Amino acid sequence: MRIGIDLGGTNIAAGLVDEKLSIAARDSVRTPRGAENVVREMEALVRSLCEQAGINFQEIESVGIGSPGSIDTGAGTVIYSNNLGFDNVPLAGMLSGALGVPVRIGNDANVAALGEFHAGAGKAYESMVLVTLGTGVGGGIILGGKIYDGFNGMGGEVGHMTVVKDGAPCTCGRKGCWEAYASATGLIRLTKAAMESNPNSLMVSIADEKGKVSGRTAFLAARQGDSAAEAVVSEYCSFLACGAANLINLFQPAVLCFGGGVSHEGQYLIDRVLPLLESELYPVGEKKTVLRLAELGNDAGIIGAAML
Ligand SMILES: [Zn+2]
Repeated sequence: MRIGIDLGGTNIAAGLVDEKLSIAARDSVRTPRGAENVVREMEALVRSLCEQAGINFQEIESVGIGSPGSIDTGAGTVIYSNNLGFDNVPLAGMLSGALGVPVRIGNDANVAALGEFHAGAGKAYESMVLVTLGTGVGGGIILGGKIYDGFNGMGGEVGHMTVVKDGAPCTCGRKGCWEAYASATGLIRLTKAAMESNPNSLMVSIADEKGKVSGRTAFLAARQGDSAAEAVVSEYCSFLACGAANLINLFQPAVLCFGGGVSHEGQYLIDRVLPLLESELYPVGEKKTVLRLAELGNDAGIIGAAML
């Protein structure tokens, strides 16, 4: 039995992961401030999971943590995390000291990709790139069953490749990053601009009804045939296809998998992106990367952490 911990800025979710990579017991708490408090809560979660499942603490092989921010995986240190307010925190060592069990740590996006690879959309394949379309664009690269994160553990930042030189500003300080266009935030920006120039669009009434413009607004209206929304979805999908083609040309993964909020558009999203993607890809013959949707949702973070 292994334990995976998904450490977020708001909640800490933990799960006891069995040999079949299912979550046999789970628990979560609000994330406290301060590293010592975080370690104390994680320790309590591990003990509570063992109790819940009626297993002996000694049966735990290892504990893994998926953490936001820059992680030195070798040293087990959170180098910097804005979300947690951490600066050089040796988190793996602190928890291992408290539990007396080996603890490993990885970047949360990479860890979620590892979980999705082993237990979700990537399970039948040999390599995978996961792209998470949420507030930002995150993701992870899994090659040969392992996270590829570069020599210093910082690799796999798929959202921060440029798709438009001198384009829209990105949270990282650069301009024209994929994240600025393919994230839900980028989609909302495109939607709002289109609503302004098309005040009669169905998008306007959908946003009024829901009380806000969201990443769903344009998709909902496009599915009902609204032409301005259709144009937003087309533009969004062309940005999505551009970055996805870059990743496929670089890595030729067996699977490219979309996760996160926007991926809930499901097969409709895949059907829109696929033809755009194929027109951008380097010709490779019959063996082509499969485009899939993530299957595990938030559980990917817990299962992936247990697999570290
Ligand atoms: Zn960026």
